[in-house]
Amino acid sequence: MTVHFPFQNTYAALPASFFARVAPTPVASPRLVKLNRPLAVHLGLDPELLASPEGTEILAGKRLPEGAEPIAMAYAGHQFGHFVPQLGDGRAILLGEVIDADGIRRDIQLKGSGPTPFSRRGDGRAALGPVLREYIVSEAMAALGIPTTRSLAAVVTGENVMRETMLPGAVLTRVASSHIRVGTFQFFAARGDTDGVRRLADHVIARHYPDAAGAKRPYHALLEGVIARQAQLVARWLLVGFIHGVMNTDNSSISGETIDYGPCAFMDHYDPAAVFSSIDEQGRYAYANQPRIALWNLTRLAECLLPLFSGEQEAATAEAQALLGEFPEKFTAAYQSGLRSKIGLFTRRDGDEALVQDLLDAMAQNHADFTLVFRRLADAARDPENDREVRQLFTEPTAFDEWTIRWRERIGGEPQSATERSAAMRAVNPAFIPRNHRIEAIIDAAVNRNDYAPFEELLTVLAKPFEDQPEFARYAEPPKPEQRVLQTFCGT
Ligand code: AMP
Ligand code: MG
Repeated sequence: MTVHFPFQNTYAALPASFFARVAPTPVASPRLVKLNRPLAVHLGLDPELLASPEGTEILAGKRLPEGAEPIAMAYAGHQFGHFVPQLGDGRAILLGEVIDADGIRRDIQLKGSGPTPFSRRGDGRAALGPVLREYIVSEAMAALGIPTTRSLAAVVTGENVMRETMLPGAVLTRVASSHIRVGTFQFFAARGDTDGVRRLADHVIARHYPDAAGAKRPYHALLEGVIARQAQLVARWLLVGFIHGVMNTDNSSISGETIDYGPCAFMDHYDPAAVFSSIDEQGRYAYANQPRIALWNLTRLAECLLPLFSGEQEAATAEAQALLGEFPEKFTAAYQSGLRSKIGLFTRRDGDEALVQDLLDAMAQNHADFTLVFRRLADAARDPENDREVRQLFTEPTAFDEWTIRWRERIGGEPQSATERSAAMRAVNPAFIPRNHRIEAIIDAAVNRNDYAPFEELLTVLAKPFEDQPEFARYAEPPKPEQRVLQTFCGT
């Protein structure tokens, strides 16, 4: 039996300037280290066959499935504010698209599958560590309900890659509702290829923003749609303490999914200025800067779309600015509503914003763990006896005590029962996030000891982030001082 991928490709049918046709480069002796079976089924793929030697060869790029039209997508991008007119998939190859069980089109892409015409000086490969990191974090994000690319499989290639040292090579099979980025629009716009921008915009509307097709001004509606989804996305990131780390325009997805997990991290103690990426020396992509950067990236997208806005350039610019001007409001609405839920409010009143901000400020001043404060606050909402567990998280617990007086007064004015409130809070405040020190530990075990049991266990825990899972309680704990990871690396 051969593995059947029910491909229905559309991107490969776009003009030749959109991509380079290139097949993956075969590797020595691939071995499957992880297959996401539920996701395979959801995509209409047979997990048994995917796990077979033939399936493994496909997931390693050693064999092409029937119907695949392998391409490396062209894109440009602003990297740390500097424009690079040609980036493109330098180490990723899109095999094709399938329609999943929800009727949604999904890209199936191999990452680390060999050089492409966009590789520049890179080797087109990926090391095992970053592949496992992306696998874990993207699946954790999905379990948290945050829009994200998914991970279908990880294979080791049996070949080494040269980084600072020799490392085992690996290929990640990534699934996305598309791999179209802000930088994809920039690629055509920078060349003055307005027809390319239009073709891309039409493809994106059909694929991601079908409502825009029926709008009076479809390209305005497209921009408005991307702005809305990015505002939502970044709000969701902030509400779980996620720091993307490399919010370049080429890592900013048009569909509104989190994409390109590199030196990303979840913070432990709350710190708005938190930066983990080793290459982000100025803190451009710090935790609290993310909304501002998302707007900056969206402004680059708007510039690309301007030629599609009819009428005078001045008027078109004003219209784009008006749409961009709605970003702060959209972001703030999503973020504040999420924060209200995190502290257990069912209603919205004047003063709520200040109430939450005062808690956040106290957390920042007292090095309180972001995830645990909110999780344990759900127990405190049920029974004030449990305040003890929350106040422990603050270096100076009285800061929390003062806050709880105002909080109790506020929640006391709502009709919901303590049990009801606590349950609602537990449903939005995860117990388990992919903490840095845990990720480092599973990578170390896999890379240095060929032991994948810790990776499997961490995946199991993170699949149910809102359940207590008492047998895995230790995974909820922040790192001990000596376990703290202060820097994360791209590893490319
Ligand atoms: P990233 O930092 O992974 O978002 O990648 C930025 C750009 O560098 C993209 O165009 C990638 O395709 C390219 N790139 C990253 N790593 C490699 C590599 N090992 N070989 C070739 N291209 C790469
Ligand atoms: Mg990238």
